[in-house]
Amino acid sequence: MVNRSKDFLRRRVEEDLELDRYKKIVTRFPPEPNGFPHIGHAKSISINFGIAKEYGGECNLRMDDTNPTTENIEFVEALKDAVEWLGFRWSGDVRYTSDYFLKLYNYAIRLIKMGKAYVDSLSEEEIREYRGTVTKAGKRSKYANRTIEENLDLFNRMKRGEFREGEHVLRAKIDMSSPNMKMRDPLLYRIKNGDHFRAKDKWAIYPMYDFAHPLSDYIEGVTHSICTLEFENNRDIYNWLIETLELEPPRPYQHEFARLNINYTVMSKRKILELIDNKIVDSWDDPRLPTIAGLRRRGYTAEAILNFCEQIGVAKANSTVDIAQLEFSIRDDLNHKVPRVMSIFKPLKVTIENYNGFEDINASYYPHDVPKEGFRKLPFSKEIYIERDDFMENPPKGYYRLTPNQPVRLKYAYIISCQEIIKDNSGNIVEIKAKYYPNSKSGSDSSGIKVKSAIQWVEANSAKEIEVRLYDRLFKKETPEGIDDINPNSLEIIKNALIEPAVIKDRVDSRFQFERHGYFFADPVEYSDKRPIFNRVVSLKESWSKKIKRENRRDKSKPKKEHIEGRVAPMSREEEILFKIYSEEHRLNREVANTLARDKELSKFYKEALKEFNNPIAIANITTNEVARELKVKKIDEVKFTPKDIADLVKMVDSGTISTKIAKDVFEEMSRSGEEPTKIVNDKGLRQINDKSLILSIVKEIISKNPKNVKKFRDGNRKILGFFIGQVLKASNGKANPKIVNELVTEELNLI
Ligand code: ATP
Ligand code: MG
Repeated sequence: MVNRSKDFLRRRVEEDLELDRYKKIVTRFPPEPNGFPHIGHAKSISINFGIAKEYGGECNLRMDDTNPTTENIEFVEALKDAVEWLGFRWSGDVRYTSDYFLKLYNYAIRLIKMGKAYVDSLSEEEIREYRGTVTKAGKRSKYANRTIEENLDLFNRMKRGEFREGEHVLRAKIDMSSPNMKMRDPLLYRIKNGDHFRAKDKWAIYPMYDFAHPLSDYIEGVTHSICTLEFENNRDIYNWLIETLELEPPRPYQHEFARLNINYTVMSKRKILELIDNKIVDSWDDPRLPTIAGLRRRGYTAEAILNFCEQIGVAKANSTVDIAQLEFSIRDDLNHKVPRVMSIFKPLKVTIENYNGFEDINASYYPHDVPKEGFRKLPFSKEIYIERDDFMENPPKGYYRLTPNQPVRLKYAYIISCQEIIKDNSGNIVEIKAKYYPNSKSGSDSSGIKVKSAIQWVEANSAKEIEVRLYDRLFKKETPEGIDDINPNSLEIIKNALIEPAVIKDRVDSRFQFERHGYFFADPVEYSDKRPIFNRVVSLKESWSKKIKRENRRDKSKPKKEHIEGRVAPMSREEEILFKIYSEEHRLNREVANTLARDKELSKFYKEALKEFNNPIAIANITTNEVARELKVKKIDEVKFTPKDIADLVKMVDSGTISTKIAKDVFEEMSRSGEEPTKIVNDKGLRQINDKSLILSIVKEIISKNPKNVKKFRDGNRKILGFFIGQVLKASNGKANPKIVNELVTEELNLI
């Protein structure tokens, strides 16, 4: 039965399979390699590859390369890259319309011989004039009377390059008075000078889309040729060609869907190129662009983009999707995935006068995302920075943060109150002298002091400087008309923001939630540990509608865009080849592949480890993180572990012998002592505990020790699960298998 809840394309595919019209579904994604693909292409990719996958069929990737002047190999690579990054695999090799040039030419000859095509020698203007209008029939060119021999001769000489561009064209002889204007003797071939990036100077004539497309579909055995609505009227040409040439079934059939439009942006390669040419954005992967490369560099995940494509659905009517929906999809995806950390964008120094010494506070990376494991140490001392906005000397009503009369909690740490405000000569606040309450520590607070909020902070001496790039919508108008509508604040750069040290040192992820600031992504191109750069993927909440109102009230907006300097050097030929192997064959993500390809030492290390244990992704990850970190401070012959040790370590994680968290500790020990990883694990008893009954006894003990929190759980506070899981993991010295812990804690709590 055909499923009614599916979109019209899928219903059609199901019907075709049910009625045995095709044995197997073949679709294709047919971009022209004249630019980087954008999110509109992602929709087409997700439809074509998605349908093939769901119905056991295949999807081809075909470069529609019929215009020698605008196409090149860089764009081919970008298209391949985008498809793969989105998680799809094309059937067989990448295909090129240019590979079919000879076959297409032969089809044209056949049409001429059938009297169904002729060489026309009218000028472009005359052709337009002769075509008529919607209300007025067209007039056929006098050249349509040329004999078959004359046509064959002329067409051959066109092919050999004997004429200038525009001197002749090949046209189908269909119907100059058809109500469908497209059917009024459409152009099939034109003369074009210039070398084609693949066919070089072999051809002086190039097939038009309307001719090349249906026949390429047919040559490839495509069954469902899915395109956007603008091509609805071209469908008659599509069918005419296939019928007139009496092509053997199975024949392809064209189906149209609505193209994706999004507000506050532009969705066409031509318009994007204009932005690049006018230096409004830096390149095709500028994080403000709706290109797949741009979204990816900004920090969008493939999952978020695919979810978005699924949510907007497939329809037959054009409409514009609100960009907030795209932003929602990435927020939704990152919300439960990424570690949460503290950063300060506009620092205000706070000196806690009654605190002496130093401590490391344990804080979860995933306070809301049970059961993800992961803690970091937050250094704490008497000197910290808070966000300038989190202190107000004369606060308005409803201000919940630090004021001269209102204490505030430092997240994960203590409650402080303001003792003194230090100002510079011009009256600007430069420092707060504060007092802390020793028994107010988060988690064991017995101070009885009430606060209205908790704010982020970083410890002054250990905090790292980072650059943050705050991206915003590229256009200020919902339906931008051109460059005048550019949002002057689409990029704000903060050069000296501060971040807690673990983010740089441990790098547990490349995406983070900077608490209260948004989601951030380590820029995959320019980031280095010396100069960490984070792109804002998206803010935490939708704030644009409010902003528009504010902007309207303010009368002039000052442009803030700063220039970005220092791009990364291009890869050498050799590095490029390595990069290709790593990203395509080993299927490493581009960031990792990029790091490896550019670093001979790391690359060699990786390859050697890989020989010992063939798990490219895991080996590459540890090589580009842990190993790379060691190699920054030591020479390769100074490090105490070998590629084999690393392979052994990965093997143990792979088989579940140790957890990833323990693996990090083992690594530290390996690089300190030079001991073999298996020996460390055995000697120290670090094997992961997978024994359910053992874990259960720990779970029970923790539950019985914490009746208050059990009550909270029963009262509906689901977040408290994280507390229990954390405690159990801690009690097992981090060795209990977190998955099992999660299962058992949930089970046990629900039993009570
Ligand atoms: P642009 O106007 O950006 O240059 P295009 O349609 O010329 O786009 P192609 O490279 O020819 O781009 O398109 C490849 C495929 O992607 C086509 O099947 C096309 O229909 C589809 N596609 C292009 N833009 C969109 C869009 N905005 N929404 C959905 N599909 C699209
Ligand atoms: Mg185009």
